[in-house]
Amino acid sequence: MQKMVILGATGSIGTNTLDVIARNPQQFSTYALVANTNVDKMLTLCQTHQPIIAHMVDSDAAKELAAQLPKNSATLVTTGAEQLKQLVTHEDVDTVMAAIVGAAGLVPTFDAVKAGKRILLANKEALVMSGQLFMDTARQSGATILPVDSEHNAIFQSMPQSVQSNLGFCDLNAAGIKHILLTGSGGPFLTSDLNALATMTPAQACNHPNWSMGPKISVDSATMMNKGLEYIEAKWLFNTNVDQLKVVIHPQSVIHSMVQYNDGSVIAELGNPDMRTPIAHCMSYPQRISSGVEPLDFFKLGQLNFCEPDFTRFPCLKLAIDACAQGQEATTVLNAANEVAVAAFLANEIAFTDIAVVNQQCLTQVSASALTSIEAILELDSRTRVAARQSIQSMINT
Ligand code: NAD
Ligand code: MG
Repeated sequence: MQKMVILGATGSIGTNTLDVIARNPQQFSTYALVANTNVDKMLTLCQTHQPIIAHMVDSDAAKELAAQLPKNSATLVTTGAEQLKQLVTHEDVDTVMAAIVGAAGLVPTFDAVKAGKRILLANKEALVMSGQLFMDTARQSGATILPVDSEHNAIFQSMPQSVQSNLGFCDLNAAGIKHILLTGSGGPFLTSDLNALATMTPAQACNHPNWSMGPKISVDSATMMNKGLEYIEAKWLFNTNVDQLKVVIHPQSVIHSMVQYNDGSVIAELGNPDMRTPIAHCMSYPQRISSGVEPLDFFKLGQLNFCEPDFTRFPCLKLAIDACAQGQEATTVLNAANEVAVAAFLANEIAFTDIAVVNQQCLTQVSASALTSIEAILELDSRTRVAARQSIQSMINT
């Protein structure tokens, strides 16, 4: 029996994870659920999944949840940074699903890595910010990292055992690998008129053609910043150099990514676009469990198309690839700027095309020295957020 903590339990990945746990009750149990503010959803999850702990990061939300849970409930409600650290590092916990959105996920995920847990990693932003430190710490603590992000999960599944068992430090050349082909759908604006992008609304940006996801990652898919963050994530997980990692647009999202070998073979993972597949794969690896996902019906598949990404349409993707080559300071700045810019776009403060402008301005303006600790990463993250808000404010004023 694996005892699990779900960070980001009320979100899209959290809910899908709980669905897979409920389908396999003899193998998994829910030790703790963690969320930010959504009391109603957490209350329902507590009633259905009966965790030992329900942790709300927002202290008012914790009070409200405690007041609403039935008096005889077996679930203890907690709040506070120290309590969060205690629950992810608790000796009873085997596995932590890291599915808080954004930089907020870094500290609890990193604490779980330090404690040597089995980490099911959905929170790509944590790796984008702390890549080297994250993988070094996992190696020291003996933590197992399993990629939940569908592309990285597909790449992982298409890799030989020598790579799977040495994430972060694998040698792709020695494994006979020529390229990793990171696929992306291109999002809802792949074929929209370029001149119309500036007036796209949050609802249009969040209307992803294939995947149902939280608002931040949905906007990131529309700008293809999501693919940029995934490019950086892949670099850390699979220890790639610039020549080994390519982005391919594949609008149908049936192939979830591929690995191209020196002998001409290409190995891919395919399936319906449903996150319960990679979640279930990580939960049970190296075994297989049922996930509730419909089998892919090849007779109903239409065409599978592929094209190269266009950086004029998707400037955020180019910013991310360049930042990855520059190093972790640039990727941390980009991640923080993007979170603030996406939030401003979702709040109707700036235009869709301004997201890339804010990101670019922060990359130019915010300076940083080498990042060797979580504290230094968080300091750069907060400094960038201030700069991003200033960029946004000057856009609003003009
Ligand atoms: P979501 O917006 O649906 O859910 C976010 C979760 O994070 C919620 O439970 C929320 O309570 C929690 N949260 C937000 N701010 C928090 C804070 N300050 N402290 C603690 N918890 C906080 O997001 P999602 O779509 O489930 O994505 C979660 C993560 O998984 C993201 O990093 C995303 O990039 C990654 N991911 C998601 C998908 C997907 O299909 N949704 C696919 C691949 C990767
Ligand atoms: Mg993905």
